[in-house]
Amino acid sequence: MPRPRKCRRVENLPGTTYFKPAGIPMRMLEDVHLTIDEVEALRLKEIEDLDQETGAEKMGISRPTFQRILASARKKVANAVLNGKAIRIEGGIFAMENSTYRCFNGHEWNVPFEEMTIMPPELCPTCDTPQIEPVLAAGHGRRRRGWQQNR
Ligand SMILES: [Zn+2]
Repeated sequence: MPRPRKCRRVENLPGTTYFKPAGIPMRMLEDVHLTIDEVEALRLKEIEDLDQETGAEKMGISRPTFQRILASARKKVANAVLNGKAIRIEGGIFAMENSTYRCFNGHEWNVPFEEMTIMPPELCPTCDTPQIEPVLAAGHGRRRRGWQQNR
């Protein structure tokens, strides 16, 4: 029996989920499928500049697993860039923690991950102000622009 795969913790969802090379008609285009956890590994290593140990820790997985996900992600990106393929980002085995939001007037509330992917909040549920922002969880680094567009 295969071991159940461990959930990989993801802090950030990519803002863009499809990349397409210019000048190639859609019907001629092949695409490469990157998963959300692969993109997260790339982000932690290449954008946040973390070493593999720290990246693995952040995702709640072992270093060899992190390394494997990262290698797979790099291979796919290289394949797309060098062979003129599109990149589609979706799926994967991952979990995202609930996001906490705070409004201008100090109200705080939790937004479940499923809801975040469909419709990130725009108003405070208590006072209806649009002046809301995500609260950063302690020890979770910076949150980047792109996913959460409302300011
Ligand atoms: Zn409020």
